[in-house]
Amino acid sequence: MTLRPILIHPDPRLKTVADPVASITDEIRRLADDMLETMYDAPGIGLAAPQIGQMSRLLVMDATKEDEGAPRPMVLVNPTVTWASEARSVYEEGCLSIPEQFAEVERPAKVEVQWLGLDGKTHAERFEGLWATCVQHEIDHLDGKLFIDYLKPMKRQMITRKMVKLKRERARG
Ligand SMILES: [Zn+2]
Repeated sequence: MTLRPILIHPDPRLKTVADPVASITDEIRRLADDMLETMYDAPGIGLAAPQIGQMSRLLVMDATKEDEGAPRPMVLVNPTVTWASEARSVYEEGCLSIPEQFAEVERPAKVEVQWLGLDGKTHAERFEGLWATCVQHEIDHLDGKLFIDYLKPMKRQMITRKMVKLKRERARG
């Protein structure tokens, strides 16, 4: 397994719609392994392939809370939301591609998602709580959408300016 560098906003790849995965190959399995390792190392609760510059519809997540015991690493290939609750919930979201910036985002409180597993089978599950927010945030990444796109333009521009500055500082080393 290899840690992959995470792209920081703004980056055109984070605004691009990712391509469906045609089939589960060893390359896809390796990519999923690398993404899980990169996510846990960050640390984060979700990571989508475009965040490491791979334009494939693949995400990994584990929104298990520390006091809930064993981790539950999940790999979702070609995920789609098949149902969303009318009830909505608000979470303070962050993103590994937008370090140290957090903002409240409102989304459906529960969603049903269907995806292809690394076992080549179709899976479906209903998510709620932090899992529901996480899976929607990550699927957004596959559609070139970031959580700051839900914010008012002023706030979004302020965060983007901070990220431009951060990238400049990191490039200088
Ligand atoms: Zn994110």
